[in-house]
Order: sequence, then C-alpha cells, then structure tokens
Amino acid sequence: MLPPATLSLDLDNLWCYQRSFGLEAWRDYPSFLNLALPRILDFLDRADLRATFFVIGRDASEPANRDLLSEIVRRGHEVGNHSYDHELSLHSQSRDLIKDEIQRAEQAIAEATGQSPRGFRGPAFGLSSVLLEVLAELGYDYDASTCPNSLGLLARLWHRRKASKVGNDAGVLDSLYGSMREARQPLRPYCWSLSNGAIIETPVTTLPLLRLPYHGTYLNYVADVSPALARGYFRSALALCKLRNVPPSFLLHASDFLGGDDAAALDYLPGMKRPGEDKNAFMTDILGNFRRAFEVQTIGAFVDDVKSHRQLPKLEPVFGV
Ligand SMILES: [Zn+2]
Repeated sequence: MLPPATLSLDLDNLWCYQRSFGLEAWRDYPSFLNLALPRILDFLDRADLRATFFVIGRDASEPANRDLLSEIVRRGHEVGNHSYDHELSLHSQSRDLIKDEIQRAEQAIAEATGQSPRGFRGPAFGLSSVLLEVLAELGYDYDASTCPNSLGLLARLWHRRKASKVGNDAGVLDSLYGSMREARQPLRPYCWSLSNGAIIETPVTTLPLLRLPYHGTYLNYVADVSPALARGYFRSALALCKLRNVPPSFLLHASDFLGGDDAAALDYLPGMKRPGEDKNAFMTDILGNFRRAFEVQTIGAFVDDVKSHRQLPKLEPVFGV
C-alpha cells in the first residue's frame, strides 16, 4: 500500500493576482475561471486524481460561476473555504470581521456547489490565533493555512519587486509568506490547542529539513530555467518526504494550468511566458510521479483517516517574528 498524500488547489482568480500586485484593474473582478476550471477538472479526471479546491466566496457568489463551481463537487472533489474577499491581511483583522468573511464565504460556496466547506486556507498562508478560534467556533474540521517555508523573505522581496514594476507594492505586507518562526512549524499534521477547543492543521509541505517550497507555482518558477531541473527537484522532494515519513500536501493554483497564450495579462507570474500546452505537459509529468508514489486524496478524506487512526501532537498557536 502506498503512503498517504493530499492534493489541493487554491482557486485564486485573475483579480486576486491583480490586487496583490497593486493593479487597479482588480476592482472590476475580472475572472479566468471559465477558462481555467474546465481545463483543470478535465486534467484531474484524466489523471484520476481528487483534490480539495479552496474557493473564494466572492467568486462563488457570482451567478455566472455557479455551474462551473458545482462541477468541482459533481466530479468528486472537495471544496474548502478560501475567505470571501481574499484580503491578504485577513488574519490580522478583528474577530468580528474574520468571522463575517469566513461565514459569508461558507454560505456562498455551499449555495454554489451544494457542499459546505469543512476546511479553511487563508489568503497567502495568513494565520493567527483569533482566526483559528473562529474556525473552531464555526465547527471547522481542519485548517490548511501553514506553509513552513525558509524562502519566505526572498519570496516577499520577489513579490515586492515585481509589484513595483507592474503595479505598486503598497499592499505587500511585511507578513506575506510567513516569518522565520513560522518556517519552523511542523510539516506533519498536528492539532492546534485553542482557548475554545482544538482544530487539526494540515500544512502545505515544504522540503523536510531545508524547508524549501515545492508547490506548483514554485516548480514553474524553476521550470522557467529548466523543466528537467524542476522535475528532478520534485522527485527529490517526494523521496525526502517518504524518507522522513512526512505525508506530502501538494499545492496547485489555477494559474499553473494557464500559459502565456491563455492569459497574457499575467505575464509577471512564474511560468506565464511558456505556452499552456507546455505547462500542461509539465503538470501531467509531475502529477503522474506524485500519483505513482503516494495514495493521493483530498484533505478532508485524509483528515478523516488521521482522526480515526491516531492521536495528533498538540501545539499552542504562536505567530510572527
Ligand atoms: Zn489564495
């Protein structure tokens, strides 16, 4: 039997990228979901993979997206809550605002897809004790907002430099992509011990020991230099996870399935200068490797399995610095 792993996809839309790079066009909420989502769902069907899609409430509340989003559940995937407005500073807002964002997103996602989310992932991995307490209060089974990443500072500098070229960097937070303390958080699942209960954390995994990222967009960043190097790096990451008994949680974004010929307006993102066909061939290769090495499942299915088989270690929530 193969060891377990999870696959998730953050459904960040065109407007989310425009907003995070300081481009005013985001205010019209332009969307690429009608292009990206059918392609991703067909891709996952062909690969025989099921994933957790973290959906943004605002997109779910848009009537034009409802048929598209309901296909996620119809094809056997899970939907998770990715907040209502994808506000990068959500985790540092007041308890009332956080609760309102999560509840509004939950309602819109349930109405659009027919499935109520059981898990949450914060925009850009933003997390706080208050946010976790709100999730526990609302009865969520798990959070998936951590990504213990030693390149957080470099990723922030890259984002700031890009934003100052294509838009403006005023909205790039000092907490974007996490702190050094957060880079040392566990990679295996655990339980946050909270004042009002507990909630399971399933981290987006990075390389054991080195804590280097290997999510889809980072692999595309490496593939811009050499696709062979990116493939070798991914295989090494999976092998190291297996060796260290870390169940990989592999993260994708919708933009990982789009190329320069599909969404030229996103040419400031990694991989966006390559054609969509090349990127899809690359993803076929990467996900084929993943599926051959692990029993890949949704995060919800993985959490159910973990809960029924073992006691998870407990951790007090401490963030920042
Ligand atoms: Zn996101």
